[in-house]
Amino acid sequence: MLDVSSIREDFPILNENVYGHPLVYLDNAATMQMPRQVMDCIVRHYSTTNANVHRGVHYLSERSTSAMEQSRQRISRFLGADGLGTVVFVSGATEGINLAAQCGVRQHLSPGKKVVVTHMEHHSNFVVWQELCHQTGARLVICPLTDAGELDMDFMLSAIDQDCAAVAVCAVSNVLGTANDVATICHAAREVGAVSLVDAAQAMRHGRLDVDRIGCDFLAFSGHKVMAPSGTGALYVSDRMRDRMVPYRFGGGMVDQVGDRQTSYADLPLMLEAGTPNISGNIALASALDYLEELGLDQVATYEGELLARAEQGLDALDGVHVLGHPKERFGAVSFVVDGVHPFDLATLLDKRGIAIRTGHHCAQPLLRSLGQSSVVRISPAFYNTPEEVDYCIEQVSACSNFLRKFSK
Ligand code: PMP
Repeated sequence: MLDVSSIREDFPILNENVYGHPLVYLDNAATMQMPRQVMDCIVRHYSTTNANVHRGVHYLSERSTSAMEQSRQRISRFLGADGLGTVVFVSGATEGINLAAQCGVRQHLSPGKKVVVTHMEHHSNFVVWQELCHQTGARLVICPLTDAGELDMDFMLSAIDQDCAAVAVCAVSNVLGTANDVATICHAAREVGAVSLVDAAQAMRHGRLDVDRIGCDFLAFSGHKVMAPSGTGALYVSDRMRDRMVPYRFGGGMVDQVGDRQTSYADLPLMLEAGTPNISGNIALASALDYLEELGLDQVATYEGELLARAEQGLDALDGVHVLGHPKERFGAVSFVVDGVHPFDLATLLDKRGIAIRTGHHCAQPLLRSLGQSSVVRISPAFYNTPEEVDYCIEQVSACSNFLRKFSK
């Protein structure tokens, strides 16, 4: 059992008041709050270690390099990637997916080839591939969803054929919370020689993501969704792709020999890490993963599952409230609409009561269009939230919706 009240003491921001109400932060799918332990790691870095990496021979530079490389190994262990592939530091899932597309997939695309994505992708794992298809003449195939808000796996598996060059799919949807069977999809891709990418932005804190079991070529995630600073993240690149990658950004740190006319490049991961990286952030990312693992990933997943089920049941019981999708496995987020109430108005009133939730298209316009919506409300609890906070939120969704309905008549 998680000791939520002592966990909350690690997160100073949870003591904030918002418009005179205690903050109820239920927007964790957008970004998570940071525990003291991670803040301390950043302060420690700047107090004792700060220097540029992979450059100097002096003490601090070596110490800084070693701390960042240890963090890389830590992330690799977390992903089950030890000895299997390479972890590249990136600024977040978006950069990771762009790098995978431009450095690992672009050269394999041509007219006649296709890239398979799904209708539940975040724009970061949709527009990147749409644009790549425009650039190369390849065809973008979009896997539809079932009424329950799950992937149509028959469609997906039949789309992964000899013409398929790449498949990109999220492990967990940022809107519906649907957990996808990414292992089946990635193994199918491998069988036809297609490259696979898993967008793990929403999945990182909901259980172990084992790249060996999943069988993906790329996996991207953002640090800020697992309590690390924004501007951090990682892209896992499988060994299979290692020698097939080409650089994308050029500059310091990614070269081997620079001649007047020609340059040879360093191997992965440095080849993809041109310029000075986010050193303190990359180091803090490992401390965030330590924090999560010390809590216990299974315990976190169980507790968050209970909070989410409580939110879903509470919403289901309200008149005129429609929860979107009823997938068999839902992690981290539940979205809904309310008859006669604009999501923006509802979120604005909830904010005035101290409740932080997200509203809008959630960077998933293709998904919302397929659901016949243009804007939805999302509740995304984390392990530091309490059942009382969820109940308060549901109570206020009801009260504010009733108020708005009366007001709009
Ligand atoms: N994919 C998913 C599923 C996401 O939820 C997000 C963030 N909302 C991203 C990609 C993009 O993450 P970032 O903006 O941190 O790069």
